[in-house]
Amino acid sequence: MGPGMGRVFVAGSINMDVVATAERHPRIGETVAGEAVLYFPGGKGANQAVASAKQGVPTTLVGRLGTDAFGQELRRFLAAQGVDLGFVKDTEGTHSGTAIITIANADNTIVVVPGANARVDAKDVAAPVLARGDVAVSQFEIPLPTIAAFFARARAAGATTVLNPAPAKRADKALLDLVDILILNETELGFLTGTELKDGDPPARFAEAARSLATGKIVCVTLGKRGVLALTGGEPLLVPSRAVKAVDTTGAGDCFVGALASQLAGGKELRDALAYANVAASICVQRMGAAPSMPTVDEVRSALS
Ligand code: ADP
Repeated sequence: MGPGMGRVFVAGSINMDVVATAERHPRIGETVAGEAVLYFPGGKGANQAVASAKQGVPTTLVGRLGTDAFGQELRRFLAAQGVDLGFVKDTEGTHSGTAIITIANADNTIVVVPGANARVDAKDVAAPVLARGDVAVSQFEIPLPTIAAFFARARAAGATTVLNPAPAKRADKALLDLVDILILNETELGFLTGTELKDGDPPARFAEAARSLATGKIVCVTLGKRGVLALTGGEPLLVPSRAVKAVDTTGAGDCFVGALASQLAGGKELRDALAYANVAASICVQRMGAAPSMPTVDEVRSALS
């Protein structure tokens, strides 16, 4: 991907995931001694930006951190992954997005506190200058009006808008109308369309459910190990994924979105970009963690060849 190609701009969340492991979960009011504490950089915005940057495509993250130690650590981590942080603001009076996770007996409990992510506003997303050929990406972990402002600007600049409506929440039509490519998994599709869907349902059933969302935009439904189903106006296109031994599927969807955005910014056709994103995500699921398990462009290319 040479000069003159587009850039990826991700407006989204940045979190530190703090994981404590223990033999069992405490009951209400009880304290138990744990085994280990682990820190994982996360947040869908950060994960997707890392996935894109590692494909060698210029990637700018727009977001907010607190002025705390996690903020500094996240900044260091993301910079080392090649993500441009020129539009990530430190915010007084709040903390960096934090997820407190406890794991015991393979069951987890999670409390996510958005902190600075909830402060990302229309002014923040108006700061970077987008151009034709760029790709603007967002998810549902920052305020929805901010996403609408970001996409309206991106559209006006001739950029392509990509929405990953995760975690699922109700979105108004005005926001969805600003989306060129919607990428969602089975759960999010079920939520947004009010359809009861099961993991093993045939692709045709997902295609049918997605059709109501696909007016004026491309809809890509990720189907886990089955790959991705794309509705582009004609016959639904199923791009199968590679058979691999999955170890940890955390971040698979984020890897898919970031890798797809990078290829579209690089000028690839949708079909090729979908195949590339499938391969990238198939590498991600073979490793533990989210952001740290995003593959590099060399890893994806060698798996593709
Ligand atoms: P999410 O992580 O949002 O639930 P999916 O489970 O649909 O999303 O996974 C996203 C993408 O990751 C899939 O479209 C596919 O490309 C890849 N993927 C997920 N699970 C596997 C797997 N077991 N084997 C190969 N690829 C996978």
